[in-house]
Amino acid sequence: MNIILFGPPGAGKGTQAKLLQDKYAIPHLSTGDIFRTAIKNETPLGVKVKSILDSGQLVPDETVVDLVAEELKAPKYDNGFILDGFPRTVPQAEAFNEIAANQNKAVDAFVVLTVPEKELVSRILSRGQGRADDTEEKIKTRLEVYRSETEPVQNYYKAKGVEKEINGIGTVEEIFDRITSSLH
Ligand code: AMP
Repeated sequence: MNIILFGPPGAGKGTQAKLLQDKYAIPHLSTGDIFRTAIKNETPLGVKVKSILDSGQLVPDETVVDLVAEELKAPKYDNGFILDGFPRTVPQAEAFNEIAANQNKAVDAFVVLTVPEKELVSRILSRGQGRADDTEEKIKTRLEVYRSETEPVQNYYKAKGVEKEINGIGTVEEIFDRITSSLH
């Protein structure tokens, strides 16, 4: 099963992705996690993207698309994947469409976690992950970037008929149940 988890920063994508990974035994692929690990290890990729992540802006499409295309070739994704944080722009979605076709990997579900914007800021501030981009100012930037560049990706998948909107308010377990019910 190939799943894309979608939604604004603070919607709970990472938390739900980990639960889905355990339930379906398919790996979670988070582009944000890959970038943060690269920054921590000071790899060439990390050095390249550090200031971008710190600012709350997006890494260039080409960099992310190449990264995901390479990563998905790993055998561990043969039985499926849970994409979290990608695609984040319409050009990324278009490029991913081609990658998926070339690798024979159709997207089965595009799961959108919907949470009101007011709630997002307080959630991110209270989750206390110690991320450099979790300050109030950077959260504002990330939400603006989400609205202008990322939200249109939803229509792209709506048109493909695989989009599932999930109410992202409730306990972690309630939201997880809604997601798994929508996948049947
Ligand atoms: P996340 O952990 O998904 O919130 O991602 C953290 C940061 O990584 C984002 O604010 C972007 O700077 C960068 N990033 C992650 N995924 C992408 C992507 N698909 N396209 C561009 N930038 C990304």
